[in-house]
Amino acid sequence: MKAAVYEGPRTVTVKDVPDAKIEHPCDILVKITTTNICGSDLHMYEGRTSFETGRSLGHENLGEVVEVGSAVSKVKVGDYVVLPFNIACGFCKQCEKGLTNYCLTMQPEPALAGAAYGFAEMGPYQGGQAEYLRVPYGDFNALRLGEDAVERQKDYVMLADIFPTGYHATEMAGVGPGDQTIVYGAGPVGLMAAYSAILKGAGRVWVADHHQDRLRKAEEIGAIAIDTTSEDPAEVVKEATLGLGADNGCECVGYQAHDSGGHEDAALTLNGLIDSVRFTGSLGVVGVFLPKDPGGAKAQGKLEAEGKIPFDYGLMWFKGQHMGTGQAPVKRYNRALRDLIAGGRAEPGFVVSHELPLDEAASAYEHFDNRDEGWTKVILHPDG
Ligand code: NAD
Ligand code: ZN
Repeated sequence: MKAAVYEGPRTVTVKDVPDAKIEHPCDILVKITTTNICGSDLHMYEGRTSFETGRSLGHENLGEVVEVGSAVSKVKVGDYVVLPFNIACGFCKQCEKGLTNYCLTMQPEPALAGAAYGFAEMGPYQGGQAEYLRVPYGDFNALRLGEDAVERQKDYVMLADIFPTGYHATEMAGVGPGDQTIVYGAGPVGLMAAYSAILKGAGRVWVADHHQDRLRKAEEIGAIAIDTTSEDPAEVVKEATLGLGADNGCECVGYQAHDSGGHEDAALTLNGLIDSVRFTGSLGVVGVFLPKDPGGAKAQGKLEAEGKIPFDYGLMWFKGQHMGTGQAPVKRYNRALRDLIAGGRAEPGFVVSHELPLDEAASAYEHFDNRDEGWTKVILHPDG
């Protein structure tokens, strides 16, 4: 079968790989019809992780079930399913608490927790930017879609990651009706956080970035754009709130945050968020923080090396703010978000700028990685 394979820094090739197949009675096999490129794939693509060459990428996947293992009872051949990027067992101590993002069973490294398709340090699982994907514990890890699945794949595929992730950022930030919320980053995740805040009835939502095309998308959904090339987000928000700052905010950029001169400063958006949000407000941080050196924490054998960065903790403490962090537990939200889409209340597919055949993955990665004008979110179709 064909898959988009990582072949070294900034090199992805679509090539033949061994066929995905059922390996365990609880597995299902999914023929992928829609699979996204995510900002998280770029950590691997840019060579900033220990991701092995020859492995397929892709953790935002939707498709049709073509085979089920002998122990699968709920999911049926022919079902269209969207697959949360977290691979979880459903029965470990963490999963029982709803923390499928830190499942203990699917991660073979004892010092780590959590697993995902086609992801560095998150288990050996292949990615779904491929014709077929093996899904462990299919009854648990597949969310079934309704009859409109095929024509609305562009919306439903966002349930695999970025819609629940954006929503999770707003949950950790405690966004509620009437709130004034700031979102750092107008990438796909930031746009989903802003969209989630608006769905929750936030009074005013600001989105800060320096990419004009992405800021226009934020405006399209009713957010207020802050262009960081000419404005300081904290100043804009304070001026609009009698000097107090936003009620809460989301960080959707991560360690690749950079200033308008293009200089990377991993603490930039964290510090901006702490400054922008008022006393006792909450911060939802979903942007990823990795070590700067390729090889990462696992290669060094010490998890504490993971993204060690100095930031304005003192100011955060003084302001009595709360911070939530980490990967999103997709399963916690995606059934409800699916039903918002099905009911016509949410159309997260607005982030999509390009729908391309899988064969064009190499150039799609290049454009998305460069944040080229107009390349907001790319969907790949393995069936052309
Ligand atoms: P992206 O790289 O396309 O978007 C990031 C955006 O941040 C870009 O538009 C960029 O211009 C902007 N940015 C850079 N510096 C900035 C600054 N100083 N101020 C404001 N904006 C700035 O990626 P994405 O797909 O939107 O993902 C964003 C982050 O979320 C990544 O770190 C990704 O790995 C992470 N992520 C986390 C989870 C999770 O479960 N926690 C899930 C998916 C993605
Ligand atoms: Zn993703």
